Amino acid sequence: MFTIAIDGPSGSGKSTAARLTARRLGAQYLDTGAMYRAVAVGCLDSGIHQDDPVAITDYCRTMDLDISTDPDDQHIRLAGRDITAAIREPEVSAWVRAVSTNPDCREELVRRQREIIASGDFVAEGRDITTVVAPDAAVRVLLTADPQARMRRRGAELGDKVDAAGLRDQIIGRDLADSTLVNFTVAADGVVTIDSTDLTPDQVVAQILLLAHRAGIVR
Ligand code: C5P
Repeated sequence: MFTIAIDGPSGSGKSTAARLTARRLGAQYLDTGAMYRAVAVGCLDSGIHQDDPVAITDYCRTMDLDISTDPDDQHIRLAGRDITAAIREPEVSAWVRAVSTNPDCREELVRRQREIIASGDFVAEGRDITTVVAPDAAVRVLLTADPQARMRRRGAELGDKVDAAGLRDQIIGRDLADSTLVNFTVAADGVVTIDSTDLTPDQVVAQILLLAHRAGIVR
């Protein structure tokens, strides 16, 4: 069994690259950001306040979360309710900070993520996969892109759901908050940086597949 770990800031193209790589290798795919977002959805629905870390942790430890790992069929359920669309709402993107800055919550999510990726061949993506969740992964990649390119990509995804200031906050503001938690802007030892600014998704995948080949996990 193998793990390919991909970290990077929002808009770096890591979800697309991770999903395509998983598909090419017949592996499963884990979007760890979706798990952080799911906690935010659950807390919002339960009326939990952003500055109540104890309640957020309690929620996180007891939630019934089901995330699909099929790269061609992505869905996420909380206590049986489909929240696949809800986790992408701008309100959730803003709330998620209260989850990701909560160390007990991170510990619980890392525990669940390790359990999931131990069950098969995985391409997992997030912010701390190469360093915390799966530091022993056969391939570890930090995917970067310049801020302009990242805002352009996220803007195209969100359409008119968010204005320019909101977009800036989602990309630059979230990076800033996230980089105080885990360092995903500089590659750790043994982690390969791929700058996707001028690359197509297929070109990024080709580079990851080359690394997988060199690591001996695919022929
Ligand atoms: O990747 P995505 O933008 O969906 O992640 C949502 C948020 O979840 C990030 O802004 C970050 O705060 C948090 N996150 C994290 N660690 C991960 C994945 C996501 O802290 N491995």
